[in-house]
Parts: sequence; structure tokens; C-alpha cells
Amino acid sequence: MSGLVVIGASYAGVQAALTARESGYAGRITLIADEHLLPYQRPPLSKDFLLDKVTQDGLVLRDEAFFKLKQIDLMLETRVHAIDRHARRLSINGNNTTLGFDKLFIGTGSHARHLTVPGAKLDGVCYLRSIRDALDLKQRLQGAAEIVVIGGGFIGLEVAASASKLGKKVTLIESASRLLERAVSPFVSQYLLDLHTRHGVDIRLNQSIASIGGENGKASFVTTTDGTRLTADLILVGIGGVPSDQLARDAQLACTNGIVVDDHGITSDPDIYAAGDCANHYNAHAGDWVRLESVQNAQDQAKAAGLAIAGKTGPYDSVPRFWSDQYDAKLQTVGISRNFNRHAVRGSRESGQFSVFYYRQDKLCAVDSINRAGDQMAARRLIGGGMSPTPEQAADLSFDFKSLLTPVKAASD
Ligand SMILES: Cc1cc2nc3c(=O)[nH]c(=O)nc-3n(C[C@H](O)[C@H](O)[C@H](O)COP(=O)(O)OP(=O)(O)OC[C@H]3O[C@@H](n4cnc5c(N)ncnc54)[C@H](O)[C@@H]3O)c2cc1C
Repeated sequence: MSGLVVIGASYAGVQAALTARESGYAGRITLIADEHLLPYQRPPLSKDFLLDKVTQDGLVLRDEAFFKLKQIDLMLETRVHAIDRHARRLSINGNNTTLGFDKLFIGTGSHARHLTVPGAKLDGVCYLRSIRDALDLKQRLQGAAEIVVIGGGFIGLEVAASASKLGKKVTLIESASRLLERAVSPFVSQYLLDLHTRHGVDIRLNQSIASIGGENGKASFVTTTDGTRLTADLILVGIGGVPSDQLARDAQLACTNGIVVDDHGITSDPDIYAAGDCANHYNAHAGDWVRLESVQNAQDQAKAAGLAIAGKTGPYDSVPRFWSDQYDAKLQTVGISRNFNRHAVRGSRESGQFSVFYYRQDKLCAVDSINRAGDQMAARRLIGGGMSPTPEQAADLSFDFKSLLTPVKAASD
């Protein structure tokens, strides 16, 4: 009996295997990981791990005893090279070894988009995706004084914050006119720009990289398209993620910016499932097809797939959530603000505690918060329940969202 095979042992893969088992899947479950470590948490790699606040052991998601208990066979350092859908077989490790499956789950995640400018392959040009990358980056940071970060997205900003906390001189280059352009509103972008600037990070907007130069194969400077030359002991590139969907594409599964799945994580093959960073799904909260890169999405979408694998049903309809830590600012987002046409601000930028409520056609669709966790809790319930405070109510700090959330008791009760 071949059972369920899960490719990729991170948030999505581990969750799918676990949910399938706990929901009654009785067959064999094999979890395949191409990395050498037990499944681990990725978010601290750009934050506490770089700052020595968490050790490598502290990153482990689930230990060996856990997988044994759940009767999940974990195969570390094993890479899947091809999926033969017709024979229901995987080829692994590129040495003619095969593994059969009855059901297959793909949780191969995403990988860092690479720079293609001249000099991009020089030593000292780094990316951050895995524990290996983080160990390398951490070691290089020790001997580096000047860091250039390319990309003002989440990873670039988090590494810039960590490097600046470590006393490094940091310059961040962003080609757009504001930080996190695709993720947050201009209001939040401006707050983050001020925050980083206050901590000494030199942020250059509207600048692109023309080339990277150096000597003896080692990068030592970056040239921007306006001709500025910036010296660098270390260059961190954070220009986005690319879905790791090559296996699926080679197997002719439907893919468009990731593996296309329904709300049960089912791909164009009814026995093959996918979730997490590698999957593209129609999200009712976004009103569009989206490929989300977040822990919440990977886990909740994989839960729906795990249920379906076990013959149960529980479609994926969670409100998307994300967080990012930079200095003392905790940025949390709930919902998807894409195509919003109105917003309201609760709190103030000056106080370092505020939330931005986004509306799409008068309906609350997303909330970004800086250091206002309570607003996030309320927003999750509001958006999840299809409820909208008016923008005026949202902006009024004395307005309590509980009045919308708690059912009013009938007078006769
Ligand atoms: C530095 C960093 C910081 C982040 N911070 C946050 C944050 O603060 N908040 C948040 O919500 N999200 C954050 N994220 C994003 C979050 O970590 C991802 O969304 C999440 O890890 C996605 O989980 P996944 O299981 O879909 O894929 P991944 O975590 O990418 O795991 C996929 C796994 O599959 C393996 N794999 C791929 N191909 C094969 C193959 N052919 N054979 C075998 N194995 C294979 C990969 O090596 C990998 O181990 C961060 C990501 C990074 C890199």
C-alpha cells in the first residue's frame, strides 16, 4: 500500500500530513524533506535568529518523537525529481529510486527570486530563504560593517532592521516609490520609512540596481541606475518569492503563478493536492486568485487539504493574516486590501500605535495594524463575519467594536 506522500516538510506539508492522520487517514504517510533539518520555523530567520535570540534547536516545528507518535515517516535530505502521474510514482534523489503514492500532497513552497544584473553571482550576494541561508548570512554579518539591502519588501526590511540593531551601516534600495508597495497602504509605508530612517537605515526609493562589482570574485560595491556607487561588505537581495511549482508543471498539473487548487487544496488531478506558498487559489476575501506567502495561509490551506485527503470536508475560507516585526513595531495585517477605495486610520502614526481600515465598495476588506493587536483580533471577527464598522466608527478610538460583534440580547430575555 503506497498511501499518502507529502513533498516538502514545512508549514504546509507538516500540517497536511498531521490533519490527514488526525482526521482518520489510516494509510501510510510519508513526509519528504529535501533539507537536512527537522521541519523548522522560517519567520525568525530574518529576525530573532539573526539577533541570537533564538537558537537553531529553538526553531524546530515538530521533533522526531512527534512524527513517530503520529505514524508519519519522515525522510530528510530526500529530493523529489519527478512525478509520474500515470504510474502514481515519484522519482527521488535522481538515482532511479522511486516511491509509489495513492494520494500526493505538494507543499514545495517558494524560493527567492534571483537578481540578474551583471555581478549578481559574486560571492557576498546573499538571499534568505532557508536555515542554510540564515546560517551563512549570520556568519557573514559578523565580519561586515556596510550592508546593502536590495528590496524594500518584508524580508529586506526585516534584515535591514536586524542588521541595524547589530550596529551595521545599512543602505536599502527599493525600485518603487514607497516601501512594501504591494502589501500595505501609503500611510503604513511612510510610517516604516520614518521608522527605519530613525534607526539610521539609509533608504533610497525609486532606485534600481545596475550592477554589482568587486574583486577576486567577491562583491564589494553596488551601482544603481542613476550611477551612484555604494560600497558593501555584504549584499542581501530580497526581491520577492517565486513558487516552487516546477515538479507540478512538469507533471502537467494546471499552474498559473503556482499550482492551481480549489478550496479543498485539490489540483487539476483529483488525487493530488497542494497548499501554501506554491499554490494559487481563488480567495473570496480578495475577490481574486491569489498566491499567498504566509504561515497562516500555508497551515490553514493545508488543513483543508488534509481533511479532504481523509475523506472529510472543511473548505479553506480563513481570513488571510500576516505579521512582521521590525524594531519595536509589530505590523499585523488581516484581510487583503487589494483594490480598496477608502480607508480610515485609528490611532496615530506619532504614537506608534495605529490601524488602517480598508474598504472595498463600503465593505471592510482588510486592516493593517502597528502595535494594536486588539484591533487585529476584532478585525478578524469583523471581516470573517462580513461585518463593517463605518469608516467614522473605525477612526473613533472611543468606538468599541464589541458592540458590533456581540449579539444584542432580546428585551424579553
Ligand atoms: C526569512 C523569512 C521570514 C518570513 N517571515 C514571515 C512572517 O513574519 N510571517 C509570515 O506569516 N510568514 C513569513 N514568512 C513566509 C513563510 O515562512 C512562508 O509563507 C511559509 O514558510 C510557507 O510554507 P510552505 O510550507 O508553503 O513552504 P516552505 O516553507 O517554503 O517549505 C517548502 C519546503 O519544501 C521543500 N521542497 C521544495 N521542493 C522540494 C522537492 N522537490 N523535494 C523535496 N522537498 C522540496 C523546500 O526545501 C522546503 O523545505 C517568512 C519567510 C522567510 C523566508
